[in-house]
Amino acid sequence: MTDPPLNDWRPRVGFVGLGRMGRPMAGRLVRAGFSLTGYDVDPAAAQRFRSNTSAETAASLAHLATSDVVITMLADGDVVRQVLLGVTGATAPAAPALIDVLRPGAIVIDMSSSAPIETRRLGAELAARSVTLLDAPVSGGVARAEAGTLSIMAGGEASTIARCRPLLDAIGDRVFATGPLGSGHALKALNNLVSAAGLLAAAEALLVGRRFGLDQNVMIDVFNASTARNNSTENKFKQFVFSRRFSSGFSLALMVKDLATALDLADATATPAPFGARCRALWSTAAAELEDGADHTAVVQWLERLAGTRLDTDRSG
Ligand code: NAD
Repeated sequence: MTDPPLNDWRPRVGFVGLGRMGRPMAGRLVRAGFSLTGYDVDPAAAQRFRSNTSAETAASLAHLATSDVVITMLADGDVVRQVLLGVTGATAPAAPALIDVLRPGAIVIDMSSSAPIETRRLGAELAARSVTLLDAPVSGGVARAEAGTLSIMAGGEASTIARCRPLLDAIGDRVFATGPLGSGHALKALNNLVSAAGLLAAAEALLVGRRFGLDQNVMIDVFNASTARNNSTENKFKQFVFSRRFSSGFSLALMVKDLATALDLADATATPAPFGARCRALWSTAAAELEDGADHTAVVQWLERLAGTRLDTDRSG
């Protein structure tokens, strides 16, 4: 973990992407006293943010021109690239790209879970226009975003990360300087590979145990007091699966995207990842068979269908 903040820099912040994570993260910055303008392409998302904070939202990216720092919290690196550089191709972009309005010296912090190799390419393109890119993806989900207790993996120039610490510290309580640009995004994808594997492994074990006659609540309690404990056994099964809520706030589609990023990284580094590849394939199949917009915890419903057994509390499954 890096040292505590050494500065009291109070940059003007533009925040792009006010979705499930961006809204509470931007809210933490406003509560910490930063001057912040939010932007989301979806007017309803912008409206939800305005109604929860005293901050302004911009009608277009052009209104973020005076930002010292722009934070992006978007679905993936492709959307980040589109916001920063515009849509390339035969037709001109319908809206200005951020790079056309940002002043030289501005910093962009991509807190989305983007793909690290593309992040390095984007960083070089922004540097050519005198804008510095950091990658600082987060882990912890919506609840920890609201509490300001996310874990943050920050990649890029150490001096730029140190300068931005007041912002990162308002959003997370564990800030790791992970290395050069792209290292945060790489670590985030690999983190989610381990997380996705843990969820599936626990779900399979619970289904086997249930069909053998074990009590699923007792199983989770034993796992959590034993060596099977993982984030999903602690924070997902009772909360979102046994309760049948399936509403953690992290979508299945985003998890599949993160798994693709992790497996691309395995390919790019020529690292055999047979288990990761299988895990990714299972999650992709589940995503294809579940409804659009499903929460990632709904992957258990897909396994339940295979098993013909449900992990609900009436024990009739
Ligand atoms: P989300 O879909 O809820 O939010 C994305 C927001 O981006 C939406 O409000 C959308 O309208 C907006 N958007 C899309 N295109 C845009 C554009 N061109 N300009 C401006 N805004 C645009 O997604 P989320 O769950 O908040 O996830 C955001 C990122 O955080 C993803 O990379 C995800 O993998 C990562 N993440 C999510 C969680 C979680 O628990 N939800 C946890 C950790 C990391």
